[in-house]
Amino acid sequence: MQWWKTGASLIPMKYFVLSFAVVMSVLLGSCKSGSDSGSGGNSIYSATFYFKQMTELKLDVVYESGADPFVGTTGAGLNYWDITLQNLQALFTGRTVTFSVPKTLAEMRLIATQNRSVWTTTDALNLANQYRNGDSSGTVGKIFVAFVKGHAAKSDGTADNQVIGYSVNGTNVIIIFKQVVQASGANPTGPVPKFVEQSTIVHELAHAIGFVNNGVTLTSDHHDSTHGAHCSNSNCVMYYLNEGSSDLAAFIDKYQNSQNAVMFDNACLNDAKSF
Ligand SMILES: [Zn+2]
Ligand SMILES: [Zn+2]
Repeated sequence: MQWWKTGASLIPMKYFVLSFAVVMSVLLGSCKSGSDSGSGGNSIYSATFYFKQMTELKLDVVYESGADPFVGTTGAGLNYWDITLQNLQALFTGRTVTFSVPKTLAEMRLIATQNRSVWTTTDALNLANQYRNGDSSGTVGKIFVAFVKGHAAKSDGTADNQVIGYSVNGTNVIIIFKQVVQASGANPTGPVPKFVEQSTIVHELAHAIGFVNNGVTLTSDHHDSTHGAHCSNSNCVMYYLNEGSSDLAAFIDKYQNSQNAVMFDNACLNDAKSF
C-alpha cells in the first residue's frame, strides 16, 4: 500500500491511518507510523501522561450531520460504545482510571456541516481547535474524536477513499470518515460497519495513547516495526493486516455474539499493564 511505501521513504509520518482496503480483506488496516514526536516525553499527549498521571479519560465526540456515529446495541445486547469502553478498561486494568465514553447522540455534539471533500491532518487539527471541549490537563485526559464526511487527503491532495480514520500522531485528535465506514458492509447501517467503526476507534485510540511501542514500551517482541506502530499478532486489533477476505467476517463474528469485546492480544495488554 502506498502509505507503507511512503513510510519507507523516510518522509515524516504525520498520522496513523486505518485503511478500508485492508479492512475489506481483513480487519484492521494500515496506519502510518510516526516516531518524530510520537507519544514520548511527558506532554499531555504522551503515554506517560495517560498511564502514569491521568485518572480520568473523557472521549469528546463530535459529528457532522450525515456522519452520525452508530449507537444502539449489538446482536448480543452490548451497547456498541461499550466496545470502546471495554477495550479502554482492559488497557488500564489495575490502574485507578475512570472513563467517560458517550453512548448516545445526545452525549455527543453535532457540529456545523464542514462541506469538505478531503481532510489533511492540518484540517483535522483545525477542526479540533475549533470544536473541542477543552484539552487534557491536570489528571484529566481528553481525546477528540470527530466523525466527518469526506475523505482523508492523500499526499497529492486527492481523496483517499480507503482510509477509515486516523490518529494525528503526537496529538489527541482522531478523525473518522463516516462514508468509508458505511461502505465497509453491504448494508451501510448493518452490524459490519458498526463493528468496523468501533474497531477503528479502538485502534486509533490505542495509537493515540502510545501503542505499539510508540511511547508504551514493549514487554515482548511483538512490535511489527516494518509496518509502523503495530502488533505482529494477527488476532490483535493492532495488527496492521490480516490476510484473506474471510478474516474480516471472522474477526467481527467473534464479537457479534459476545459480551466480551476486548480486541487486544495479551502482548499488547501486558505492555499496558507493565508500563
Ligand atoms: Zn494503526
Ligand atoms: Zn497486540
